[in-house]
Amino acid sequence: MQVIDILNRKGRDVTSLPPDANLSDATILLAAKRIGAVVITDPAGSIGGILSERDVVRALATESVRALALPVSNYMTRTVATCLEGDSLEDLMEMMTQGRFRHVPVQNAEGRLCGIISIGDVVKTLIEETTREASNLRQYIAAAG
Ligand code: AMP
Repeated sequence: MQVIDILNRKGRDVTSLPPDANLSDATILLAAKRIGAVVITDPAGSIGGILSERDVVRALATESVRALALPVSNYMTRTVATCLEGDSLEDLMEMMTQGRFRHVPVQNAEGRLCGIISIGDVVKTLIEETTREASNLRQYIAAAG
């Protein structure tokens, strides 16, 4: 199973914001879309950072509501780990485990943002794969018996 297989099923929409959007805009977007992270892109569409719900919690814990009026660029993670469509599910899980994050933007061969995979997508895919394998095994055993 590769990243491209997950994207083909879930779609390639990426919710993004410019770096000068404020933290309040980001929280509204995260809540409205029921997602955990937003990619911060510059006008050319390049990835400038990622802001997750954890960053919002950290900002509110340290700066209280004052943070809500400040730009997301103050709180985003600037060095973003990305993956390619050809990367395997195992590569992705390794990246998330090592990096301790739950979202990985996908870039195509030209370096353009073409999707995002969350830990929820990974878990869903693993459950589907396991269920399919179990069903195949049951059919195999029933046919053999
Ligand atoms: P998450 O587990 O995705 O909510 O993110 C936890 C922390 O890692 C937050 O500070 C995020 O900004 C950061 N983060 C999330 N995804 C990535 C990524 N792909 N590369 C680097 N940092 C990330």
